[in-house]
Amino acid sequence: MARRPIIAGNWKMHNNKAAARELMDGINYGISKLDASKMPEVVVAPTYTALWQVYELIKNEPKVALAAQNVNPNPKGAYTGEISLEMLADFNVKFVIIGHSERRQMFNETDEFINQKAIAILNAGLIPIICCGETLEQREAGVTDAHLEAQITKALAGISADDVAKSVIAYEPIWAIGTGKSCDAVEANRTIGEIRKVVAKLYSQDVADKIRILYGGSVKPSTIVEQMAQPEIDGGLIGGASLEAESFVALIEGAMQ
Ligand code: 13P
Repeated sequence: MARRPIIAGNWKMHNNKAAARELMDGINYGISKLDASKMPEVVVAPTYTALWQVYELIKNEPKVALAAQNVNPNPKGAYTGEISLEMLADFNVKFVIIGHSERRQMFNETDEFINQKAIAILNAGLIPIICCGETLEQREAGVTDAHLEAQITKALAGISADDVAKSVIAYEPIWAIGTGKSCDAVEANRTIGEIRKVVAKLYSQDVADKIRILYGGSVKPSTIVEQMAQPEIDGGLIGGASLEAESFVALIEGAMQ
């Protein structure tokens, strides 16, 4: 069975309530003109404070799913500043982004913590978007594939084959994030193929064939068609170009070609 592509917008720390409404109105308007039967799965990941606003604007719109940018794996308790899965469920959140390099690098998130989040997300019936990616130094040292294998193996520790098959991985080379320098599509395809081989080795070819693996890092309307034409790339996790309705809708259209 073919894997359904995903176009996911990671809004990062952008958009207050009013800006979130404006952007979501623009996206809803843009996709209202598209053929729903050909559309990828469209996902938006607002900040926590805009989740309610965006939820209200898409609750009757089956073409868009909501993602959170993070979650705490504990069910409740004294975790100041954190948000639980039960809270995300209030807004019908379907996906949770975890292991983003910004959280690994700036907030010292470890592979073990990311694994705990993946397990909690799947146990709650949501889907993790597990990010991985190498630094420029790692790429230049030729250790990209080994680094990704370690990140993925640790993120998936203790997770069942069925749960892995429904999960999503996002390959985001750190040197390509926010730099305007997207990874060459053929190389991104090769690297994602290597990640898929890791999943096949850990689980089975069947699980590897099912898991969706996205590319992220300076994806733009001008790059998306070539990226989506690659057999291993199942979609995009997009930062900057997801912040304008026009470019985000252009990315969705690009994924439909
Ligand atoms: P940019 O698309 O801005 O490079 O961000 C990618 C990203 O980090 C998505 O999670």
